[in-house]
Amino acid sequence: MNYILDYDKVLNILNNMKNLRKMKSINTRMGYEVPYYTYGKGKNHIVIVGGTHGSEIISVDFVLKLMDKISNKKDEFNDLDENKFTIHFIPLQNPEGFIISTSVIKTLINDTMSLDEIEKVCKDYYLKYKQDDINVKENKGNKEIKLHQQMFIDTNYECIPKKHEKIRESVKEMYKDERLPKGSMICFRANASGIELNRNTRFSKGLKDIKEKKEVYGLNRYNNIPTTIKGPLGIPCIDVNNFSYENENILLFDLLEKLYCEKKYCGCILFHSTGGEIYYKPIFESYENNLRVEEQEKISNKNLELALEYQKYTEYKLTDNNDKEFNSFDGYLRTLYPNILLIELSKMGGNPLGPYGDIKNNYIPTINDNLKATRNVIELMINKTSI
Ligand SMILES: [Zn+2]
Repeated sequence: MNYILDYDKVLNILNNMKNLRKMKSINTRMGYEVPYYTYGKGKNHIVIVGGTHGSEIISVDFVLKLMDKISNKKDEFNDLDENKFTIHFIPLQNPEGFIISTSVIKTLINDTMSLDEIEKVCKDYYLKYKQDDINVKENKGNKEIKLHQQMFIDTNYECIPKKHEKIRESVKEMYKDERLPKGSMICFRANASGIELNRNTRFSKGLKDIKEKKEVYGLNRYNNIPTTIKGPLGIPCIDVNNFSYENENILLFDLLEKLYCEKKYCGCILFHSTGGEIYYKPIFESYENNLRVEEQEKISNKNLELALEYQKYTEYKLTDNNDKEFNSFDGYLRTLYPNILLIELSKMGGNPLGPYGDIKNNYIPTINDNLKATRNVIELMINKTSI
């Protein structure tokens, strides 16, 4: 069985989860329901999110495994008392971007291949992606097609199954004038309207760049992909002169706000894919914020406590300053609510395939260590940090 997920496999896995409650959710612009489930009957509520970026398969993979373990009380989760907590799972926040990235993967990886063959393709991708970063360091101005993009050079909207007609049309439109490099659909981080959910705030630096008609590109190996037009890396919102949140974020925002106002909120963990990092520190000065200093300090201290607990099991580095320029959505949430962690999972980089490039030494320990870390952070959120 091919372990690289796609949209249909995710839906299948979710349909087979018996102990979870399927909740009323929201649809994306193109009509895809954002899967939302809960488990537990306690008064301490925790929110867990994966798949914010379409190309970050391992984050979806991880949250699905977490849902299975928690709701079936498996292994390290067998002594967590579901009468004490309620967990809200949003395992695939960006179904559209996920459909795009995983459709591209299928042009190289399919269910008839052996697991060894799949691992080899992923390893090859990982190495090329890494080499692309090295090459950009040596020659910053080089915007040629990257090695990892070369692997998917012939892919276009046609690799997306016909049943996803709106997504196909939108991708076709984005790529028609060739400002986006060939092969770059593999890293489709945005939703199918070309909006990057984690830059979808009024404070995003990208809004200014677009208004000032700057030419800005992605970092490192993405230095040939513009971030000021709709595309795989995405722009902050659909109309830069009239800011709006995407439905995928409204779901999360409304949920956190409701739980917080009802005094049920305990914390939120957002899972991303690569880097082996823990983002925990709120940068209040990056966002309009009217919290008093004492309250700001209280939030900072709580977040640090949780981040240190998470670090015990993963040895991930605590990242506290990358956010200043970028002004991300998770950074914004962190200034509004305490106990928001963003975890970058795999130490092996290269979305979407890199994390699967070494199953024994990267993928399996990544999943296992993060399950342990999450279990212990959940316990800490429930017992010690109730708001
Ligand atoms: Zn991400």
